[in-house]
Amino acid sequence: MKIKNFINGKFENPISNDWIDNCCPANGEVYGQIPNSSKADVEKAYQNAQYAFEVWSKTTLEERSRILIKISELLETNLDRFAEAESKDNGKPLSLAKAIDIPRAASNFRFFGNAITQFSSESHESVGQNAINYTLRQPIGVVGCISPWNLPLYLFTWKIAPALAAGNCVIAKPSEVTPTTAYLLGEICNEARLPKGVLSIIHGLGNTTGQAIVEHPEIKAISFTGGTQTGAHIAKIAAPMFKKLSLELGGKNPNIIFSDCDYEDMLDTTVRSSFSNQGQICLCGSRIFVEASIYDKFKSDFIKKVKQLRVGHPSDSKTDIGAIVSKPHLEKVLNYVDIAKAEGGKVLCGGNKVSIDGYENGYYMEPTIIEVPNNGGRINQEEVFGPVVTIMPFKTEKEVLEMANNVKYGLSSTLWTNDLKRTMRMNQKLQCGIVWVNTWMLRDLRTPFGGTKASGIGREGGFEALRFFTEPKNVCIKY
Ligand code: NDP
Repeated sequence: MKIKNFINGKFENPISNDWIDNCCPANGEVYGQIPNSSKADVEKAYQNAQYAFEVWSKTTLEERSRILIKISELLETNLDRFAEAESKDNGKPLSLAKAIDIPRAASNFRFFGNAITQFSSESHESVGQNAINYTLRQPIGVVGCISPWNLPLYLFTWKIAPALAAGNCVIAKPSEVTPTTAYLLGEICNEARLPKGVLSIIHGLGNTTGQAIVEHPEIKAISFTGGTQTGAHIAKIAAPMFKKLSLELGGKNPNIIFSDCDYEDMLDTTVRSSFSNQGQICLCGSRIFVEASIYDKFKSDFIKKVKQLRVGHPSDSKTDIGAIVSKPHLEKVLNYVDIAKAEGGKVLCGGNKVSIDGYENGYYMEPTIIEVPNNGGRINQEEVFGPVVTIMPFKTEKEVLEMANNVKYGLSSTLWTNDLKRTMRMNQKLQCGIVWVNTWMLRDLRTPFGGTKASGIGREGGFEALRFFTEPKNVCIKY
């Protein structure tokens, strides 16, 4: 399959005619090529986008809403095709792509198609001064959206949908390792009659294509999801140009388990929050802290459940854990197991590469639990982003709170307890953007989504995203 750039409603080769191989993680084989786009491709997209903005920014909210909802419906109609492409590119179980990734991408378009019709701005009467202020919320212009490989279409559309709904034109780049569903999205946008030039999808490497988007002087806002280091690099380029920035970055999320929780629910959910999508979700609870009184029981029950997870080919319906996204990433994750061992960690289960019959060159790994002696090692401080979790006991609320917060990241936390007072205390003190209490990854698209500390700046979701993608202008009228 040869993937092309989507510019001005057409599929085009990169101007340089430079291509990159696309590899299938389930068998390690190259099965296609994608453009390695340059500044010239980004410039071409920008010129078309700038032209399209004149019309799109003035299109009625009802019309924008209608088009976004049409895209959502077409994604649903094409569910199987998109899910197969996502699973092949990323290595995730096909069942997961069908149940979560593609339906959520469709929901993103539907949600923001509806949300824009409900979005409003403020008005302030300056009492005693015979004046009224109102806020205009205008689209920014041409904006850049850059997304990672773990939830490819899901996170791509989580940015594109609000940006378009708010009246912007978008130049978007998916991760080079998972380009296919973004490519297919172009077809759907044409079918939904999204005007030409409103959305450009440019493929290529992060440090060439991605960077060209960030460096473009007329692209006024960048919404980025990816690694913390990349986010810092992007901020360095964008900040002196005074671009608006939304950065959703890495996480090292605590999963805090108290003995008074609903045990079975906690156990099942903890298996999910540890290993869904091969542990490659920024929200996975990778540091598990368990109250000492139930630690031994939890440890043996958790190991038993995790050993039942089946590592296998993504299209096998019995597979729980598919392939890791790429060879370098598999090597990185395996290396963290060695780092943990050298730090005194004890591998309780997993830790190894897996060979699947018929797919021996695929990138598979066992779900891995490591018991750690403390929270200070690299295994508990650095983002692994794979099927690896650590566990350790704690004695008091104060101690666990300190460990939970003692990390550079601050994305999400999960708390398992039925003690309301403790819940309320801890919710106040946990340093993160999202707290889940007695659940995990239960999402309401209206809520603010994002992290603190090295997990990023800004929030996505609901009206937060529509605020990000609009420029507020206060108008003061004296009467
Ligand atoms: P990367 O930071 O490597 O890449 C993210 C995106 O940025 C990719 O499209 C990448 O392109 C691109 N990119 C890379 N370098 C540059 C650059 N210099 N300028 C512009 N764009 C660039 O992250 P991964 O794809 O490896 O994704 C995993 C990371 O994403 C993890 O750290 C994870 O925690 C984080 N993440 C955060 C989420 C959140 O909401 N907070 C949600 C999901 C993931 P290419 O792939 O071609 O290199």
